[in-house]
Amino acid sequence: MKMQINGKAVEACGGEFFGVKNPATGELLETVPLGTEEDVAAAVEAASSAFAGWASVSPQQRGGVLYRAAEIVRQRKEELAALLTQEQGKPLAEARNEIKGFAHVLEYYCGLAGSLRGDFIPVPGNGYAFTVKNPLGVCAAIIPWNMPALIMGWKIAPALISGNTFVLKPASNTSLTNLTLASIFEEAGLPAGVLNVVTGPGETAGESLVRSPEVRKISFTGEARTGKRVAELAARGMKRVTLELGGSDPMLVCDDADLESAAVGALRGRFYNCGQTCTAVKRLYVFESIAEEFIKKLETGVRSLRIGNGLDKNTSIGPLNNQQQWEYIKELVAEMEEKEAGRIITGGKVPAFKGSDKGYFFEPTLVSDVPGDSRLLKEEVFGPLLPVVTVKDLDEAIEEANRTSYGLGASIWTKDLDRARTGCEQLNAGIIWVNQHMKIAPEVPFGGVKESGFGRENGPDALSEYMETKTIILKT
Ligand code: NDP
Repeated sequence: MKMQINGKAVEACGGEFFGVKNPATGELLETVPLGTEEDVAAAVEAASSAFAGWASVSPQQRGGVLYRAAEIVRQRKEELAALLTQEQGKPLAEARNEIKGFAHVLEYYCGLAGSLRGDFIPVPGNGYAFTVKNPLGVCAAIIPWNMPALIMGWKIAPALISGNTFVLKPASNTSLTNLTLASIFEEAGLPAGVLNVVTGPGETAGESLVRSPEVRKISFTGEARTGKRVAELAARGMKRVTLELGGSDPMLVCDDADLESAAVGALRGRFYNCGQTCTAVKRLYVFESIAEEFIKKLETGVRSLRIGNGLDKNTSIGPLNNQQQWEYIKELVAEMEEKEAGRIITGGKVPAFKGSDKGYFFEPTLVSDVPGDSRLLKEEVFGPLLPVVTVKDLDEAIEEANRTSYGLGASIWTKDLDRARTGCEQLNAGIIWVNQHMKIAPEVPFGGVKESGFGRENGPDALSEYMETKTIILKT
């Protein structure tokens, strides 16, 4: 595949390529250009040239283009989902959901096209003020490999509807879905240069994009350490930044919770996308009095998960996306066993089935008796490991849940309204769920606190991340 710059499919200036592999089989799927600093400059230049034209198109007309793109995405859903499964690893059903989610994000922001407006503000004396919302100019995003389609949608849809032009740098492991989705916008009638995609390594292509003087805003999703680097570079150019840096979401299960639905929620919350979701359930705190019964339910559920190639319709959990993640998960389990710092209830191994040696597979794993200083509770564990910790009451659960540098999401499971309210008030996170976990929608603001980053994606809030407010004060 080629990059997309100024409406054309292009190779990298340096003529080099890199391979995108299938994490379930190790097969080479495609090569993509190794974008250079010159390619980034060309993409930014194209976006800059296209800006005045796109900003002068009415929001409703811009919405029309996004709507046509969403229609084409829905028509090509099966082909796009299969591509996503092959390069990312997730089961086909999850890939279909993600592709539909991408289309839904576009449709949602089309619906907001007519609401892009400022305010009328009466002021004391003879006069009044009003505000005008203007697009920022060239915006850029650097995105990860766990949800490449959905996260692309979260970033480009509010930016494009509000009149900005865009340069996207996909994760190297999942560039194919992003390049294919970007080509659909051209078919939908998006003018050349409005949406550009440069592929290539984060350290070179990504950093060049953040450094580029013409880029007015960077939206980044990925690891906290990378996010800090991006913020540091962006600060030098006084650029706006949105950072979504993952989390270590706690799930609190009280003794009055519906344990059946809490178990389903925990399994889905942890093992969806092979545990590689920023809002996955990464730490589970259960009241002592129900722990045994609840853990039994979890164990039955984990044992029923079918691990395999995401293209196989019986698969409920695919491989990890890449070798780095696979090695990390193996290391965490090996370290835990060596230090006797946790008890594996089920899982804990690289599975053995026909062809499993070719992919980055790891058994869905349930762990108990984890000490408070375990890496499983402190790090953003992106993989199929679920640590369960018992607590005596809600106060202890909240104290432990808040003992993290992250603050993306958290959930509390209870039928008691007072307990639910206490959880909502005292859990320190950007998103709190009650009796569910991980439900997200483009209508709802999404983002974290502390090391999980800042700024909000989705909902009407995201539009203000891509617009400048100009205040006009008139004396009459
Ligand atoms: P990274 O933060 O390294 O990668 C995310 C994106 O940033 C990719 O597009 C990457 O490009 C790019 N990038 C990397 N380095 C730079 C840089 N110096 N400047 C600009 N862009 C850069 O995450 P990893 O892929 O290494 O994943 C590691 C961990 O990050 C995971 O284990 C997980 O904990 C966390 N993570 C969190 C996600 C979330 O949604 N919150 C998503 C993915 C990861 P390239 O692909 O070319 O390296």
